[in-house]
Amino acid sequence: MESRNPATGEVVATYTEHTDAEVDAALDRAQERYSAWRERTVQDRCGYLQRAADVLRDRVDEYGALMTREMGKPIDQARAEVEKCAWVCDYYAERADEQLADEVIGTAPDAHTLVSYEPLGPVLAVMPWNFPLWQVFRFVAPNLAAGNVGLLKHASNVPGCALAIEEVLRDVGVPEGAFQTLLVDSGTANDVIADDRVRAVTLTGSEPAGRAVAERAGRELKKTVLELGGSDPFVVLDDAPLPETVEKAVTARVQNNGQSCIAGKRFVVHTDVHDAFVDRFVDAMAALTVGDPSDEATDVGPMARPDLMDELHEQVEHSVAAGADLVLGGEPLDREAAYYPPTVLTDVPADAAAACEETFGPVAAVIEVGSEREALAVANDSDLGLGASVWTSDLDRGQRFARGFEAGCCFVNEYVKSDPRLPFGGIKDSGYGRELSHHGIHEFVNRKTVWVD
Ligand code: NAP
Repeated sequence: MESRNPATGEVVATYTEHTDAEVDAALDRAQERYSAWRERTVQDRCGYLQRAADVLRDRVDEYGALMTREMGKPIDQARAEVEKCAWVCDYYAERADEQLADEVIGTAPDAHTLVSYEPLGPVLAVMPWNFPLWQVFRFVAPNLAAGNVGLLKHASNVPGCALAIEEVLRDVGVPEGAFQTLLVDSGTANDVIADDRVRAVTLTGSEPAGRAVAERAGRELKKTVLELGGSDPFVVLDDAPLPETVEKAVTARVQNNGQSCIAGKRFVVHTDVHDAFVDRFVDAMAALTVGDPSDEATDVGPMARPDLMDELHEQVEHSVAAGADLVLGGEPLDREAAYYPPTVLTDVPADAAAACEETFGPVAAVIEVGSEREALAVANDSDLGLGASVWTSDLDRGQRFARGFEAGCCFVNEYVKSDPRLPFGGIKDSGYGRELSHHGIHEFVNRKTVWVD
């Protein structure tokens, strides 16, 4: 496996994939460790998370630089991601005990009845490269706390990050077998799903990967959580406060070089403010600095892989051919690596790729609408349903509007973001199940009914 710096195209490290025998031994270790790990108290298991949070904070610069080197994230955002991983460890270290406490349903004179939350066993996490630490820690923290043990199959382009996560947990004393990174391809991951020693699977990634993993797990009757792609609408109503809305629109679209499942991708703008929004938005997108992600001044770094940039560019070309107006960007930059410029398309027809597919890069599709009703219809005209936001000066109106969104995470006057305290996940082809908050910790547990007469 190669770790290649997207900013230069250079191979920075190579790793040997685990053999079948090594994977088999890892599964044995996971199973063996699970029987002891589940017997420990929640508080005891949470002690490791608390220490992991401290270690992550100590190594913000090291792990931030590692992510930037492996997948091209701007360095300030990489450091913020490490801090957020510490936050999710803190959150579950503080809350898991209460979240996993017995839920008493009935008491005497009827039977004493309760629900207890018990672990399931080894859980496989198949993870993407775009938030290489965050996606994994938001799985690891609740699951280790709940008494499960974790196996990680990370994306093939971030093996260094995969091993760094294992390193953090090893350094805080998490016992051998409680969390292991498997350096394997997706074929081997499917064999692991089928293995009896693995009890459940969570995948964060694209729709095709989600379908493949769910199909395999379904055949084996194993529980899955799927966190898939998004084509989030960013709805600007006629009373939206424009300067702030535009500023947030730019961040919503270009965060993580535009490679975020919950990036604002379709900008659905009321006709009364459309032209003013587009003028300001184009100016702000044009002012962004595209360049070396390890430079503090960079706003947008390279695409993580050249093939991903090619795919994005095809979507832009398809959209223009379908009738969209290209008003900014739209051509790969003439540089060594895969740099795509901030790009704005307006008058994007419903059947253009930028309107009906996920665009994973700094490409914004602006769609003009004549009314609030039309705005909601356009926002919901998607097979995906991950996040959505609406922008208005009237918070009651915003809240009413947000309730009409067909999406898992809906925001008024803020762009969509994940937060350890709130459930995160999608509907429709964006997947199912929830991560984070008490909802997330209850995904991979046996909600056991106990009746005492
Ligand atoms: P991806 O190509 O689907 O890969 C995700 C993971 O799945 C990788 O570990 C990949 O391994 C593995 N994989 C791919 N095909 C597989 C198969 N047939 N069977 C088993 N495993 C398979 O996605 P990505 O390019 O890494 O990430 C970008 C996608 O993730 C976007 O669609 C984005 O929206 C989505 N995402 C969603 C969320 C969310 O919370 N909803 C968060 C972040 C990202 P290899 O690398 O070895 O192929």
